[in-house]
Amino acid sequence: MCGILGRKEMKALVKIQSEIVREIRRFLFKKGFLEVLPPLFDEVTDPGIRRAKFFEIEFYGKSYKLMSALTVHKQILASHFGKIFSFCPCFRKEDRKARYTKRHLAQFWQVEVEIPYASYEDAMKLVERLVQSVCKHVKEKCRKELKVLKSDLKVPSLPFPRIKHEDAVRIARKLGRKAYWEKELPWEAEKALSLHFKQPFFIFLYPAGSRGFYEKIESRKSLSFDLIYDSGFGEGCSGSERECEYEKILKKIKGTHLEKSKWYLDSIKKLKPSSGFGIGLERLTRYICKLPSIEKATLFPRIPGG
Ligand code: AMP
Ligand code: MG
Repeated sequence: MCGILGRKEMKALVKIQSEIVREIRRFLFKKGFLEVLPPLFDEVTDPGIRRAKFFEIEFYGKSYKLMSALTVHKQILASHFGKIFSFCPCFRKEDRKARYTKRHLAQFWQVEVEIPYASYEDAMKLVERLVQSVCKHVKEKCRKELKVLKSDLKVPSLPFPRIKHEDAVRIARKLGRKAYWEKELPWEAEKALSLHFKQPFFIFLYPAGSRGFYEKIESRKSLSFDLIYDSGFGEGCSGSERECEYEKILKKIKGTHLEKSKWYLDSIKKLKPSSGFGIGLERLTRYICKLPSIEKATLFPRIPGG
């Protein structure tokens, strides 16, 4: 064997990633979830990807989008099939500047989870248990591989700290970073917080309107959260309680491609309340293996900007 795939670091990475996937499946199956295979492209996908753009393909004369995330689908799927999860390939034309963040790829995987009748707090509890369980499993099964990668992975203890967005803004400002009450944290502020903490933590209750349209709003707050890894690794997961009222969704999707899809408009008429989240697999791999950059957490890195 020659080249990059023959290196012992690559073998260690592939083994650890395989164990991460195995443990995620074991954990979610044990909790009664059903695995659903996602589409790879569709007429609708998650429009809430901020500065990133879609990859579009032509399919028998009509334009379709490669999946950016499974969010809009999984809300519909959970209404029909109950607790579901999916390993979803995600494609996003991230801003060229994103290549310098060390945590953005243009092609990555998410484990996507949706739970009917759950609150965002229930979803946070599931995320922390899942991440803890994966860290524990990898530490037990991949001692040799972690050593090859020089990872000093620690199993994080529960519960993960929970910080309201408004408090995160205060801490970021004290750390000398710009942060705003009405917006998500800028990358630099998030990184400063991530460096400040010694274990993964949540930022929750973001300001209304600062995030995806599908997040439920109460008292001018979005019932949503991010999991942030410590030691500068940054955001690893986003989740929320979902808006499920048809009329409210119609208002929120004005101007997006979703309002042109008959399938989508029909499918959201009878949504059940639900909460869900998406965990980036390469970011979780990077955190567990303590890799300097996300492109080292995949065999096939596609870097923003090419
Ligand atoms: P988002 O819907 O943007 O919050 O994405 C959900 C999760 O997917 C994030 O918390 C990350 O773990 C992961 N993710 C999002 N964008 C990227 C990207 N460009 N490269 C790698 N992972 C990503
Ligand atoms: Mg996010």
